[in-house]
Formats: sequence, structure tokens, C-alpha cells
Amino acid sequence: MKTVTCTLPGGYVDGHGTFHAEAELRQLSGHEEEILASRNSGETSSLVTEVLAGCLLRLGTISPVPPSVLQRLLVADRQYLLLKLREVTFGREIRGTHLCPWPDCGRKVDIDFAIPDIPVKPSRDKGPLYSMQLSEQAALTEHDGKAITAVMFRLPNGADQEAVTPYFRENPARALTLLLERCIHSLGEYVNPVPELLGRLSPAARQEIEQEMERVSPSVDLDMQVACAECGRIFTAPFDIQDYFFGELRSDVDLLFREVHYLAYHYHWSEQEIMSMTQDRRRRYIEVLADEIENMNNAV
Ligand SMILES: [Zn+2]
Repeated sequence: MKTVTCTLPGGYVDGHGTFHAEAELRQLSGHEEEILASRNSGETSSLVTEVLAGCLLRLGTISPVPPSVLQRLLVADRQYLLLKLREVTFGREIRGTHLCPWPDCGRKVDIDFAIPDIPVKPSRDKGPLYSMQLSEQAALTEHDGKAITAVMFRLPNGADQEAVTPYFRENPARALTLLLERCIHSLGEYVNPVPELLGRLSPAARQEIEQEMERVSPSVDLDMQVACAECGRIFTAPFDIQDYFFGELRSDVDLLFREVHYLAYHYHWSEQEIMSMTQDRRRRYIEVLADEIENMNNAV
């Protein structure tokens, strides 16, 4: 089975303060294809954790990598791992389509790119805690009139994403509040500040914190510049690696079961054995079988 070693743009600091960034991934096997097949697409954050739990063989000196660590990986690191997983499983070329957003056009535009061309920005400061000062206007005023400007935070991880996602569509403001509640480590001398205190942060303060988070965060830039061949205009299309990659796999679920049946029928392997194979390997056996059957037919 093919494996790939890469360096996370963020990285993970464990409970002892040790930093881990080198990741070793293996291709997807039938097991992960089945996990993807059996879940609905709404819970992508937890799906990413489950799929990575099977395929991430090592993170720094952590091996195996427990799901609790996968959940604490930064959002950008998880995206990066998915891209690498797609690359090692199906190759680096991505072909998708997007509708031109101009109402007078609306044509389907092909989006082709290679995974290694996606801009990745590693974080310089690995945290895991970051401190900043709010501006005077954004400072939080205490009941006795003193101003709090010091903020310490950590960056959003997979578990945060999982917790916040359900609110994101209907109520983005609520989602951001929840995210800040989870990620703000301290306000002035208040460690793990109560929601009441966080609730008193002004919109300006929240914006400053959000911007600082973005500034220090590692990132994977999945906004594609696309030129419409029909109308010639250029637009930005967000590329959702989770939807794309999982969709790519999910469409083949019926095929997966037929392949398992076919191999079990002819080779008498157990379902367990066949599901541990990669898609590549299953298909190679099927090709061999097909040739064999054709030879036998010709010989008759
Ligand atoms: Zn167009």
C-alpha cells in the first residue's frame, strides 16, 4: 500500500509540550470507503476524523494517532491531510466544475488543477497559545471601570469545527461566539472566562481577535481563481476538498460492494481481507480475472 510523508503547515503540541508536524499517511482502503458510504454528508468534520484515524499512520513520534489527537489538529492541518490523502489515493490532478456566478452567463466552467499547486501557508509561531492586545476602542471595560486589553487564545481545531458547524449556516454570529468561547484562553487575568464576560466583548473586539487568529493561523488556500471560457470573466470559486473527495468516493459505493462480491466469489477471500485492500489493488485483481476469463472463453 502506498504511503506518503509530509509536514503539516501548523503542527500539534502535545500535553508535554512536544511539537509534532511530520505526518505519514497511507492510501484509503475499502474500510474507509465504507465509512464514507454509510454516513450522511452533513457530518463531514467527524467523518474527516474517522477517515484520518485509519489512514494517518504516524504524527511526529505519535503512532498510532488516537482520534482525540486528530480532533485537536488545526483546521488547516486537517484540510492539508485530506489533500495529501486524495493525492496518494487517486493522484494529484483534480477536475471539477463550477457554475459561472454571473446571472447573464451561468455556464458550467471546468476547474482543473494539481494538488501541489495549492498555496499552503505554514504558521511561523507554533503556539499553542497566542497573546494579543486589543486596541483602546475595543478594550473590555470591567464593572470597576478598569480596561482589559490582554487576550490569549488558541487556534480552532477539528473538535471546534465539529461543535460550531451546526450553527454556521443559520446563525454565523452564534457560531463565532461559540468559537470564541472555546478558543479564548484568557481575558486579562480571567483564565477560561465565563460566557457572561465573553458576551461583553464588543463587535470591534471580536473582529480584532478573529483577525489576529487568521493572521497567525496556518492556511491552505482553496479559493480558486477561475476564468469563464464562455463570458471571459474571472471569478473566485471556493473549492471544498471534503465534499469533493468524499463525493468522489461515495459515488462508487455500489461499485465497492460489487467488487467485493466479485473478488470473494472468484478468489474465496474473506470480506475483511478484500476491504483492507486499496481500490487500486482490487481493480488490478479484477482486471487479471477478466483477462483470465476471456482467455478461458477463447480456449473453448
Ligand atoms: Zn461566464
